[in-house]
This record gives sequence, structure tokens and C-alpha cells, in this order.
Amino acid sequence: MTALSTTLSDRLQDPRLFRQYAYINGKWTHGEGGREEAVTDPATGEVLGHIPVLEDAQITAAVDAAEAAAAGWRALRADERSEILQKWYAQLHEHSEDLATIMTLEQGKSLDDSRGEVQYGASFIRWFAEEGKRTYGETIPSHMPNAALGSIKEPVGIAALITPWNFPLAMITRKAAAALAAGCPVINKPSNETPFTALALAELAERAGIPAGVYNVVLGEPAAVSKVLCAEPRIRALSFTGSTRVGELLMEQSAGTVKKLSMELGGNAPFIVGPDMDPTEAAQAAVAAKYQTSGQDCLAANRILVHESIHDAFIEAFKDSMSALKVGNGLEDGTDLGPLIHDKAVEKAQSIVDDAVQKGATLHESTQPPVAGDNFFMPVLLTGITREMKVWREENFAPVAGVLPYATDEEAIELANDTEYGLASYVYSNDMRRIWKIMRGLEFGLVSVNSVKMTGAPVPFGGVKESGLGREGGSTGIEEYLETKFFCLGGM
Ligand code: NAD
Repeated sequence: MTALSTTLSDRLQDPRLFRQYAYINGKWTHGEGGREEAVTDPATGEVLGHIPVLEDAQITAAVDAAEAAAAGWRALRADERSEILQKWYAQLHEHSEDLATIMTLEQGKSLDDSRGEVQYGASFIRWFAEEGKRTYGETIPSHMPNAALGSIKEPVGIAALITPWNFPLAMITRKAAAALAAGCPVINKPSNETPFTALALAELAERAGIPAGVYNVVLGEPAAVSKVLCAEPRIRALSFTGSTRVGELLMEQSAGTVKKLSMELGGNAPFIVGPDMDPTEAAQAAVAAKYQTSGQDCLAANRILVHESIHDAFIEAFKDSMSALKVGNGLEDGTDLGPLIHDKAVEKAQSIVDDAVQKGATLHESTQPPVAGDNFFMPVLLTGITREMKVWREENFAPVAGVLPYATDEEAIELANDTEYGLASYVYSNDMRRIWKIMRGLEFGLVSVNSVKMTGAPVPFGGVKESGLGREGGSTGIEEYLETKFFCLGGM
């Protein structure tokens, strides 16, 4: 294995958090075939380190380890598991600055955003440490004489967690904390773009006392690893966050073993601004909802629908607010937007802008000078967009916003729902009746009214339509890792 990257480990207060191995059965593991893959800093292109590409047999070994550990983990009382999870939570807090540094280096987001994600990600651990104590069953009034009926909740079994690069920490803890609290061992396959955050989490899980085999991290060629995980009958739950395309593939591959599936997939969020809104206030909120994480956010407000009466004032305020965003290396003070994750993301963003301009949209650029570097893409706004354009139809996952005027609430609802996605949506208005009508009409799992921020540990987060299946977080999040066992006691 390649020597530790001095660049990354030198930046950490605790260099042992930088791991370039998989983590199976409590052991840091090389790829048996000797293959490895480089991980780069998207801001500089510099190689941060390497990860092993595991062989299929090593993925199966992770399942063997989880199977061996399952009975012991399940047998712990809920409060015992809770105590261990609380220790993991404390570890995240103790090492929050190092976790944020790793995340910024491999993902590109600003240090402030990374710090925020550590707090957000950790909050799921604390939440589920408590929620695991409340996996109540029920008693059921019997429909038969002399019988007692009821149900209990039991852990579903080994859970595979396949996670993306845009929120490299929180998308893991949102799943892992729920699964572990429910009594399930986990196998995490993080994104190859952001493995070091995932491996640091495993190191902290070990320090917290999560037993060997209960927490595993596997790495390799994504399609090959996922194929083994999906085909494996001992894995009983698969929780995936990522693109709809890959989610559909994983559902197909899991069909043969009928797993419990949780799918957090893509989004193409509408942001509706009512005629009663102050255009500047609404524009500032829309800028915040669009450009966070450089637009690489499943909640990003891509399709901004503004009432025609305030459209022009909104556009002017939006351009000012967009131009105030500072793009740069996430490690530099004052950076709002980091680079995109790789050059393909930049190409895609450019193709979406070109398509819109070619079809008649007007391009508004930031007044800030462009930032040098292959993966940087300055925020842009497109006005005069139509439904035929890619900026309307596709999740752009870049700092590209499109605005369209509308005339009536009904039209706003119809436009907002004109997508196969159904994750997040935003409504800005001060008119309660309008808010209620629009909220009820929106075909989305999440509706945020007069607020850019909506996520958090207590929230039942998830989408409808092709944005996914199931809910993560909140009291529903743990259900993804539980089975209901019905019992009938006859002859009572
Ligand atoms: P992605 O689908 O490319 O990758 C997600 C995961 O799947 C990664 O671990 C990746 O290695 C793996 N993967 C990639 N190709 C695979 C294949 N052929 N077979 C098996 N596994 C494969 O998604 P991404 O680019 O990492 O993340 C961006 C997407 O995630 C966006 O669509 C975004 O909307 C979505 N997302 C959704 C949520 C949510 O909660 N709904 C949250 C964050 C991101």
C-alpha cells in the first residue's frame, strides 16, 4: 500500500483518522489483488491518498463477519447499544475539526459547511441512540376467543449502506445510526470520491467500542461491490443514497433476494415565490436554497417559479445575491462555494447551460472573476427557460439555477409537479390560504415553507415518485431496519 499522504495526515490533529484501507471484522484490510485507486482533492487535483480495490471474496468476508457479529449485537439490550452509540457521538464531537478537514479536502465544500455537516451527521447518532429504546410493538384486540394477539419489533438483519459523495458523513450516519440502534450490523460502501471520511467514521466507531464485525467499510469498483452485496441473501436490508439511475439498478439486482429497500434518490426541487412576497427576501432565500454545496445537493432549488408581478425585481435581487457568493478552495477563509466534484460534473453543468442558451434562455453570470482550476464552475442564473430545456428536466447538480414566471397558484403547482422527481420543494408566501393550497398540491416528500433549512435528525426525510422509497430520520427512520413479528397466543 502506498505511503500515507503527508498532505492529508499532516493537517490532522489525530493522523490515525486518515486510513487507506477497508475495515472488515474490526481489521484494517488491504485489497488481496493489490489493486488500489487514487483519491484526489477536487480543488487542486492533488492525490490525497489511495484506497484498496477489494476482491469479491473480500466483500463476502465482510458479510461473514457481519453474520458472525449479528447475534451478539442483537442480544444487547437497547440501552446497552444506546450507550455505545452515545460514545460514537462523543467521538465525532471530539474529532469534529479533523473530520471537517478530511471532508473539505476530498469533497471540496467549505470548511464551515463541513463543520456543519459533522454536527448534522452526529445528531443522527444521538437521535437514534435514544430512538432505539422505543421500538415498541403493540397489543391487538383479538378477533378470536381465548387468544392474545400482538406484535414485536425485531432487527431485520445485516444492512448494506451505499452512500454518495455530496454529504460524505451525514448520509452514512443517517443510515448507520438507525441500523445499529435497531440491532443490525452494517456494511458501508462509501463513494470512491469520499472514502476517507467514511473510514475516519469507522475508526471512531471502533474507538467507541462498536464490536468487530458490527461495523464494516468495503471499497472497490462500485458496480462490482454492489453486485455482490445485492446478490447476497444474508444481507436483509439495502439502504442507498445516490442517483435515481443507480438506485433503479440496485433495486433490480436486489430483486432476487427480496431485500428491504430504502432508496434516497435524486431531486429537482421547485421553489415557488408567491406574489405577496418581498422579492429581495425571496431571492436571498432562493440563492441559499440553490447554491449550497455548489448546487450538489439533492435538495437544491433548481426550478425557481416566481409570480410574474415580482419576477423582474426578483431577478435583480437574485443576481446581486448570487454575485456575492465567493467561490474558491474550501480551506480558504470566506469561501462559500467550493469546486464541483470532478471534471465530468463541470462538463455536465456546461452542457445544461449551453442547451438552455441555444434554446433561447438568457444567461446571467456572477460578477466575480472566474476561479482558476479544472473543477470550478461559477454560479449562473438562466431566465426565460422553458420545459423543453435540460435545466428544467434534469437534476443539474451544479450551481445552475433556472427561473420561470407564472400567473396563478394552479399554474405554479402544475409546473412544480412537472418532473419525475418528488423529493424537496419550497414555498415562499405570507398568505396562509395560498400556502396550504400549494402545499397540498405539491407531489413531493418534503415541503419547506418560508425556510431554506428543513433537514435534521427528527425529520422523516424522503421522496415520492422516482425520488425514492422509505424515510430516513425521525421516528420512521428506524423502521427501515426493523421487521414486525406478529404473535398469536392461543388457548389463553
Ligand atoms: P451515484 O448514484 O453515482 O453514486 C452513489 C453511490 O452508488 C456511490 O457509493 C457510488 O460508488 C455507487 N455507484 C455508482 N455507480 C454504481 C453502479 N453502477 N452500481 C452500483 N453502485 C454504484 O450518486 P452520486 O453522484 O454519488 O450522488 C449524487 C446523487 O445522489 C444525486 O442524484 C442526488 O440527488 C442523490 N442524493 C440523494 C439524497 C437523498 O437523500 N435523496 C441525498 C444526497 C444525494
